[in-house]
Amino acid sequence: MTMIERNLESSNLDNRTDKDILVEVKNLKKYFPIKGGILKRTIGQVKAVDGVSFSIIKGETLGVVGESGSGKSTLGRVILRLLDPTEGNVVFDDVDISYLSQRKIRPQRKDMQIVFQDPFASLNSKMSVGQLVEEPLIVQGLLSKKDRVKQVSEIITKVGLRKGDLQKYPHEFSGGQRQRISIARALVVNPKFVICDEPVSALDVSIQAQVLNLMKDLQEELGLTYLFIAHDLSVVKHISDRVAVMYLGRFVELASKKALYNNALHPYTRALLSSIPVIDIDKEPAKKVEKIKLQGDLPSPANPPSGCTFRTRCPYAYDRCTSEVPELIELEENHFVACHLYTEK
Ligand code: ADP
Ligand code: MG
Repeated sequence: MTMIERNLESSNLDNRTDKDILVEVKNLKKYFPIKGGILKRTIGQVKAVDGVSFSIIKGETLGVVGESGSGKSTLGRVILRLLDPTEGNVVFDDVDISYLSQRKIRPQRKDMQIVFQDPFASLNSKMSVGQLVEEPLIVQGLLSKKDRVKQVSEIITKVGLRKGDLQKYPHEFSGGQRQRISIARALVVNPKFVICDEPVSALDVSIQAQVLNLMKDLQEELGLTYLFIAHDLSVVKHISDRVAVMYLGRFVELASKKALYNNALHPYTRALLSSIPVIDIDKEPAKKVEKIKLQGDLPSPANPPSGCTFRTRCPYAYDRCTSEVPELIELEENHFVACHLYTEK
């Protein structure tokens, strides 16, 4: 058993029985081959997800935050088996789905849905709202025509659209309303788990809060479990119970919302927090922490730095960071961090 597994096992979050865990991810990896030369041979690998372990408890929202290119969408797609894992496991609702065939995975499919970032690209413009929202039921072979119509009209009201909208087409709607259509498509099959992949990133700031609130209300009403992906810590603050910070395919910190926003440990998390505007929707004043300005760009996941992959941008990096990969350890109760600053040697 690795240190992280030991830590995860002894974690208090897992005082909750196994029955409370909906999704368990164990040492998950996804490498994309890089092809080159005239023979198109594999000349390298993009390590998009590089050994991630965590579980999601029924009914909670786990936020996953990181810069563009850190592997968040790939992680989400592998969990849903829209992509096959390179290594590691995904257990969904007590079934290890990591290497099941697409046929064998069908019973789980309807329970796991995704809402994408771009409500323009993800909706077929030739289909009416009614057809778009009914489609997942048809694909899954669920319900009779009569019950499908009933289900569609119920969900369309729940997401805040009108029955009269069913005859309309996506181009007749604003971005926010279009995202409501995407949410209706995800929820019409009655899933247990929804991955929200930057669902408000493409929307006007003024609309973002409305859609976030809607998603939060629907979660409560329908008993949903969310993995909520964002590139910025301010978006997930409102909706998350716990937050994981991802950097170059790995989790560098994982903690309750309160601990993460008030007592961030990893220099990368603190840099992300430093970049949030001071004016915040929440009343709680942020604890004064030293501001860290993030320098340079994300290194390529095809050629990540040795040791701690954040060291090239970390103001506190020292020699150990070059030679040794920091493990994600539980430094405080339920507060995990992967950083040599916190482990004596
Ligand atoms: P994020 O969602 O955090 O922006 P992604 O998961 O989209 O990150 O991408 C992580 C890394 O994997 C990036 O370097 C990206 O270019 C690469 N990547 C994503 N999908 C593919 C793919 N299908 N083939 C090759 N590389 C990919
Ligand atoms: Mg993404």
